[in-house]
Amino acid sequence: MRLSNTITTITGGGSDGWDLFIKARKMISEGHDITELTIGEHDIKTDTRILEAMHAAALGGATGYAMVPGIDDLRNAVATRLTARTGVPTTLDNVLITAGGQAALFAAFRAALDEGDTALYINPYYATYPGTIRSVGGVPKAVTAEADNGFLPTFEALDAAATGAKALLINSPNNPTGAVYGRDTLEAIAAVAIKHDLIVISDEVYDTQVWEGEHISIRSLEGMAERTFVVGSMSKSHAMTGSRVGWLVGPDEAMGHVLNLLTNTNYGVAGFTQRAALFALGLGEAFESEIGAPFQRRRALAQKALEGQNAIRLSQPSGAMYLMLDIRATGLSGDDFADRLLMERHIAVMPGESFGDAAAGHVRIAMTIPDAPFEAAIKEIAAFTASLA
Ligand code: PMP
Repeated sequence: MRLSNTITTITGGGSDGWDLFIKARKMISEGHDITELTIGEHDIKTDTRILEAMHAAALGGATGYAMVPGIDDLRNAVATRLTARTGVPTTLDNVLITAGGQAALFAAFRAALDEGDTALYINPYYATYPGTIRSVGGVPKAVTAEADNGFLPTFEALDAAATGAKALLINSPNNPTGAVYGRDTLEAIAAVAIKHDLIVISDEVYDTQVWEGEHISIRSLEGMAERTFVVGSMSKSHAMTGSRVGWLVGPDEAMGHVLNLLTNTNYGVAGFTQRAALFALGLGEAFESEIGAPFQRRRALAQKALEGQNAIRLSQPSGAMYLMLDIRATGLSGDDFADRLLMERHIAVMPGESFGDAAAGHVRIAMTIPDAPFEAAIKEIAAFTASLA
């Protein structure tokens, strides 16, 4: 079969850094007792009330083709939520419902890039970013956010990379680093976007999970609403990863074209999951805080357990469900540290290198297991590190 270059080069040829994850899963299947701190999946399941709403919607007839842009009630609810949270007037016409944030990312890049166009993204990065850019024929170009700058991108680094680029992808609160971009950082990004006429794709799927500072959407900055797509999702905020409900928000002039793409790709998202998402949004902020609370709690447990440690240090864990542990002082790479931790202590963490070379010498810890084993694992990691000295 003569496949397209676009599809055969989506991964860029690397392993995408999931070797350790695959190795841990293999050990588990062979009967080893492994503590997995690898993936961004809540340890709780979708709330029963949300599932009941889904069930009732399906029994009530929401099983046919749903409206391709998304059901009006959900689009309105997302628009109202964004208006309230960001102050940017947003209507249903600015909102399209997608199969998770991932499909919204794809649609945004499809809208922004032509074949061969360059899209900037920040290194370290969420695993799918370069592949999503390549899947629409774009050329991904990483801009380093230095560990020693709290993994925050700078005007200088972005400006130097931006000449000729078409789009820029940012993600705050950030996976994998836990960084939350403050106003200064966002203003620097906006200045680069305006100077170089970039479309900004702002992945805000962790917007309800901020432990320090506040979530600011770059779309709310002066001159940005007309050049920004915002990616949102029910996956993280409402523990609905499997339901595949997300959205793309953007300027009026873009959304009709994106709708044409959705019509010719997914042809809509299941009506009963959209109804469930609508019900879940209706549970309000208290429910979102409840979903985020375990991560905030575990972050505090980790900070306490690592107090007084010299060889390892948490990097500014301000939001999302992850901790980045700086292990450079051990002299090991993230890959070697993670591999030895898995083999010697049966704890699986992600090597920083899997998220780009800017996270070399780090490991990412997902705070996605219950508090007691989580705390025990962090203490074990501290003991392991001490044993290396
Ligand atoms: N962006 C980031 C930063 C993520 O971590 C994830 C999921 N891990 C996604 C987007 C996609 O999430 P979903 O498609 O489930 O909404």
